[in-house]
Amino acid sequence: MEQLLQVDNLVTQFRTAEGNLSAVRGISFTVNKGETLCIVGESGCGKSITSLSLMGLLPQNGKITEGSILFNNEDLTKKKEEELRRLRGNKMSMIFQEPMTALNPVFDIGYQLREPLMIHRKMSKKEANVKAIELLEQVGIPDPIKRLKQYPHELSGGMRQRVMIAIALACKPSLLIADEPTTALDVTIQAQILDLMDDLKKEMDMGVIFVTHDMGVVAEIADRVMVMYAGEVVEIGDVETIFNHPQHPYTKGLLASVPNVDDETHALESIPGTLPNINEKIEGCRFHTRCEFATDKCRAQSPPSFTVSENHQSKCWLQEVPTHDKSATS
Ligand code: SF4
Ligand code: MG
Repeated sequence: MEQLLQVDNLVTQFRTAEGNLSAVRGISFTVNKGETLCIVGESGCGKSITSLSLMGLLPQNGKITEGSILFNNEDLTKKKEEELRRLRGNKMSMIFQEPMTALNPVFDIGYQLREPLMIHRKMSKKEANVKAIELLEQVGIPDPIKRLKQYPHELSGGMRQRVMIAIALACKPSLLIADEPTTALDVTIQAQILDLMDDLKKEMDMGVIFVTHDMGVVAEIADRVMVMYAGEVVEIGDVETIFNHPQHPYTKGLLASVPNVDDETHALESIPGTLPNINEKIEGCRFHTRCEFATDKCRAQSPPSFTVSENHQSKCWLQEVPTHDKSATS
């Protein structure tokens, strides 16, 4: 598969009254064309900040301070705001959890669909209108001609989410970043939207980064899974590997927290403790305060990312091969 995105050692910091705090701490990963990478972890682990960093949409006090983001072999961290704006909504698009914040309440749906097509694809208003109708049909919105004249508040949540997907896909982006796009929707609509995104991904050979805290959604749509904890990538691998052979204690905890739908008596096991605050100083492994396997070494030294097998890495000392074993096999 052809590589689309390569992120290396990305660090994102926020300027605060307490000094510069790191929300993303040197993460690396890739996304191929036609592949869905799910980023999972608890709220506050850095997954949304990662997507905003990629899109160049960090808030005022946020900044990428280290690392590179190669998108189609061009480093986005070196691009000017104007160049990034040309890429956004064109080559790379993002959809958010709450469509009401992303859609503009004062413009009708038609305007919001035509705008990227007229700006990025240089279409005439008439051409853009034809395309807008086609896009609404593609995302399964009935009566598209009537919808063009409606405003966001006149649509249901599921419809708004579909409109946002239509806008995001208008210019056929090669990378789509979706941040918890279905969390606010009921299960049936959620399933429809996930199916739709999967179909469009295949049809357009898009790379998709899907941010979620829902392991059920991950099982459904991911090709690969990246688990984040406290600003770091703790485990990354193919979806089958992550679900069937998770290595990192945090990943195992996340999977154990998935409620069993067939068994209502099954208690929701969860990971004790909470995610550390971004301003908390933690020596060693950042998960050690919640890990039942933590040793003195874990409390003193941050583990590197160990290769478990091809395409599977875990940032945990449990993966370390003892030195005498190494000499025995060499
Ligand atoms: Fe737990 Fe140690 Fe592994 Fe961290 S390095 S996850 S503390 S066993
Ligand atoms: Mg978030």
